[in-house]
Amino acid sequence: MTTFHSVVLKCPQCGTLMSDFQLMSYTVHHATSWSDGKSDTGMPDNSEIKICAVCHLPFWKADATLPYDPDWDVADELGGALDIRDQLEPFDDGWKEFKIQFFAGLIDECFADDDDKEMYLRTQLWWAINDLIRYYIGFRKPKSFQQLIYLFKQYKKRRQELKDRLQLYNSHQALFKENLDRLIFLFIKKGDVDLLYLASMYREKGNFSKAKEILQQYEGNKNEVYRKLRLKLWMKRRKVFRFS
Ligand SMILES: [Zn+2]
Repeated sequence: MTTFHSVVLKCPQCGTLMSDFQLMSYTVHHATSWSDGKSDTGMPDNSEIKICAVCHLPFWKADATLPYDPDWDVADELGGALDIRDQLEPFDDGWKEFKIQFFAGLIDECFADDDDKEMYLRTQLWWAINDLIRYYIGFRKPKSFQQLIYLFKQYKKRRQELKDRLQLYNSHQALFKENLDRLIFLFIKKGDVDLLYLASMYREKGNFSKAKEILQQYEGNKNEVYRKLRLKLWMKRRKVFRFS
């Protein structure tokens, strides 16, 4: 069940009041999780960064949320806050690249004023670059001969698209690695490190020996996630992949 309550945001730049919502609970029926920590749950998007409907400048939702007042009924009458999805058509070809430029730009202008915010921006940037190829690599195991034929035809059709996406992904590698370096630094600094996640970061940077070293220190449950990661390291594969 999805429950949320409305909140009122006040733009820190121009003072405009806008409505938004705070997600209270959500039941995940099926989630796809990825080696970079992203998980597709079908949950309503609730970005931590909003964009003012009037001055069009981005702001942190947490800093702009006015104290919750259950008697407050103005929220329904206010216009909604925007987010980056409103800046471009969702199926626009440039959408994935736009997202990369958006987060890289915010990092450059020091939009984050603490480590947690910077980690949020850098994680979004990491995911945005991976999104270029996320849904285009790997293949499903065919369950029947008919499906095998179908997947083969699809593969032929999508081969050129995959090539273009890989080219775009490769063109962002300097930014990708520089971003991961800083993210690893912040992640370790924060303490209480999830070793599987840290090993994943080093793997995607292409530092397989460091990733293996970290994986050897891991003493937790050697589950499917662990085994898949170990296999990818052994094969020296650095691209994002699906855990489940
Ligand atoms: Zn504003």
